[in-house]
Amino acid sequence: MDASAANDVNKCALSGILSIDLEALKANYRLLAAKVSPAICGAVVKADAYGLGADRVGPALVEAGCRDFFVAHLVEAKDLKRYLPREAKIVVLNGLLPGGEPFAAASGFIPVLNSLAQLRNWSKEAERYGARLPAVLQFDTGMSRLGLSPTEANALCSDPDLLRNVDVEFIMSHLASADESLNLQNTDQLSAMGAVAARFPEMRVCLTNSGGIFLGRGFHGAMARPGLALYGGIASDGVPNPTTPVVSLSVRVIQTHTVPEGTLIGYGGSHRAPFEMRLATLAAGYADGLPRSLSASGAAYAFGRRLPIVGRVSMDSMTVDISSLPDDALGLGSLVELIGSHQTLEDIARDAGTISYEMLTGLGQRYHRQYI
Ligand SMILES: *Cc1c(COP(=O)(O)O)cnc(C)c1O
Repeated sequence: MDASAANDVNKCALSGILSIDLEALKANYRLLAAKVSPAICGAVVKADAYGLGADRVGPALVEAGCRDFFVAHLVEAKDLKRYLPREAKIVVLNGLLPGGEPFAAASGFIPVLNSLAQLRNWSKEAERYGARLPAVLQFDTGMSRLGLSPTEANALCSDPDLLRNVDVEFIMSHLASADESLNLQNTDQLSAMGAVAARFPEMRVCLTNSGGIFLGRGFHGAMARPGLALYGGIASDGVPNPTTPVVSLSVRVIQTHTVPEGTLIGYGGSHRAPFEMRLATLAAGYADGLPRSLSASGAAYAFGRRLPIVGRVSMDSMTVDISSLPDDALGLGSLVELIGSHQTLEDIARDAGTISYEMLTGLGQRYHRQYI
């Protein structure tokens, strides 16, 4: 079967269609890059580019001018490297586990070093490797997740020899509350980072994720590292979302039927039809990243109408109430909207009791992916 025939089969052999607008992604990158300029704008493409496919997202970002990429794990760096030009830099945010150093060094990856122990290991690797090695040094400025503690920062200051074999590309930290523009933790972390930077005056600062870009120039440092905003997500409560949506999701109808008043719907008989209802069963469920917590609170859309989810979301399907539509409006194979112009990523995440990040990274591999 040739590629286009396989593509045609996939379109109607999977749960639905996940559309990823690479032009919108590039526009979002350019917008954020302009906003942080003269700081450099990198891109966070961990978790397979937030579930959207690092193999397509990476090269699209390169076309938009990005050369600095951030992943979480060493194995993600290994996969991503195949899709990027030689000069692109790949930073591994979670750092290295013991044993990962030789591969990281030979591949030219830049680990984030989160402790003095990791710094010593990387320094030893540099001796073994026979050349200075690049790194990003992370300091914990108040999130208590990753990075050198203030005590370790002191130890490093009093023993600069620890950095003898290591080229520090950036010193970095991570904001815990960047999406909340009025949260005072942001300014606390900014001043803590300022204090670190004052002790390492020759080093460049990398502090901000998507949200921090909208907190003002003081947060931009020398390099920004947005993720969610590139993918069209709302990163800050402080400004109207300036980015363009990248993702839309439509799911297939696999059965329609009319049930009399009193009929039980779905697992556990948790919903009883309060009147004669017309129902559509959709071909996606919690194994497709549409959480069970959408039961009774979420909806799909078709012809501008909200179609409430009734009964529990199953693993591979869910049922929606289509009584508000004409009987023949939807049939086998019809597509209904889950993410799109009627329901944003944030809307469906809220209905599921979660955040857009979790929604996006959970969508999974059972949709036909259409890159625009
Ligand atoms: C995930 C992550 C980012 C990107 O965050 P967004 O809120 O998606 O922009 C930046 N820095 C670190 C350390 C991260 O873990």
